[in-house]
Amino acid sequence: MTDNGPRLVLLGKQGAGKGTQAQRIADHYGIVHLSTGDLFRQQAAAGTEFGVEARRYMDSGELVPDDIVIGIVRESLAPGGLLSGGWVLDGFPRTLQQAEALDGAVDDDRPVDLAVNIEVPHEIVLDRLAGRRVCEVCGRIYHVNMPPRENWTCDDDGGAVTQRPDDTERAIDRRLQIYDTETLPIVRFYATRGHLEVVDGVGTGDEVFGRIVRAVDERLASTAR
Ligand code: AMP
Repeated sequence: MTDNGPRLVLLGKQGAGKGTQAQRIADHYGIVHLSTGDLFRQQAAAGTEFGVEARRYMDSGELVPDDIVIGIVRESLAPGGLLSGGWVLDGFPRTLQQAEALDGAVDDDRPVDLAVNIEVPHEIVLDRLAGRRVCEVCGRIYHVNMPPRENWTCDDDGGAVTQRPDDTERAIDRRLQIYDTETLPIVRFYATRGHLEVVDGVGTGDEVFGRIVRAVDERLASTAR
């Protein structure tokens, strides 16, 4: 592992498993997991001015404007901030402007070690999103076919497990459309820099996790300094 832990970006359509995998990757490498979506949902639940504004975009499946998102992530990346060591970003960057801002925001010449694109076919993503249920307290993800043990309350903290307001058919369609227009160019952005690894996202969580760890370890071994 590099001195400060790896700096990773997880890419993939909504429903590709980024959230679940990012948490496992963070635990495995002892790095920080930052999900901009979770951050916005926490702010919305707390009713802050920013959260209320962000919710307007989220519920309809639109992106929160770049300047707002970039401002927030930049704070976290500031020297001595939450992300000054290793990190795994999930849901950021989502536009080219955000990817460029990420490159510019870190304080040294090692912005991203690896961007991992978790690839999952469209039909599987649709099924996962339509059946997805999430703990309102900790964000743990369930599925209607794999519910919590008791009465739609989270196995970990007893929080209510519900459907995300943006997991409706219309908002899902919109988010997948935005993924193609706004987020796909980022895949090319990292590929051109030689920082992209594509991982098959079909299979059990353990299988996908194993593939990601292999890709990251190989990258870290080849860039060890
Ligand atoms: P997620 O949990 O990553 O699916 O994000 C949920 C919603 O939060 C998205 O549909 C957007 O409305 C908003 N969001 C999260 N991350 C970003 C980002 N990097 N840029 C713009 N909007 C975002």
